[in-house]
Amino acid sequence: MSSSEKALVLKVGGFREADCWVKLLTPTRGVFNAFAFGGSRSRRRFVGCLDPLSHVLFTIGTNKTGTYTVLEEGSLLHNFPAIRESSAKTGLAVNCMKFVDAVEIDPSDARPVYTLLLETLYMLEKDGGSSAFTPWFFRAKLAFEMGYHPDFLSCGMCGRSLVAEEGCQFGVEGGQVACRTCLSSGKPLEGLARPVSTGVLRALDWIQHSRPADWLTVSMDSEVRRQASQLIELFVAYHLGLSWDNGMYKKV
Ligand SMILES: [Zn+2]
Repeated sequence: MSSSEKALVLKVGGFREADCWVKLLTPTRGVFNAFAFGGSRSRRRFVGCLDPLSHVLFTIGTNKTGTYTVLEEGSLLHNFPAIRESSAKTGLAVNCMKFVDAVEIDPSDARPVYTLLLETLYMLEKDGGSSAFTPWFFRAKLAFEMGYHPDFLSCGMCGRSLVAEEGCQFGVEGGQVACRTCLSSGKPLEGLARPVSTGVLRALDWIQHSRPADWLTVSMDSEVRRQASQLIELFVAYHLGLSWDNGMYKKV
């Protein structure tokens, strides 16, 4: 039986003479592969659909024995022409799409990740996006959307508000902040922990509650940015098992 679903195309490859395989992200299935038989020849069934970065309404079925997924036809919803025209925007979009691909999104996490990627692409299409912020904000948001949701504004041990409290530490593994009082009373955070200033905690909290459209107007002190992005990379590497290395995401 076939069903229709909106999808973002992450990767496309050819095999045999006229057939394609397509890697997709949809809100109910997560990241998966499907075949588009005759896809590179039958442009009528897939006009503009079989390119990375296309947002498409696909009719999705299976082969006769149900062993693999087949794209039957597609209608293009958006192909993000402004992103395709700009190498800077393309680079940021590809970075985000590679990350989604590398994380191996399950169906249970698919909807918020799909929404996040789609909103990010619309933000890039409309106004550009900053290379200083977009990649690591995206990684942070994706981790938060997948349920790793630290509270950056209160102590994870005593619950005290940390709005004006220096001397805190962030525990990467537990995803919690500990206040100076708790730390000095000899209750260290388990595992990897890093000192964190209130400016950095506020920045992390802002990212957690932001949407991609908000990222265009952000400004951040360079030291806050450096520390916040380092903590995010440690957090993402620990919880999602990935780090960015030489233009690729590597399992860590
Ligand atoms: Zn405390």
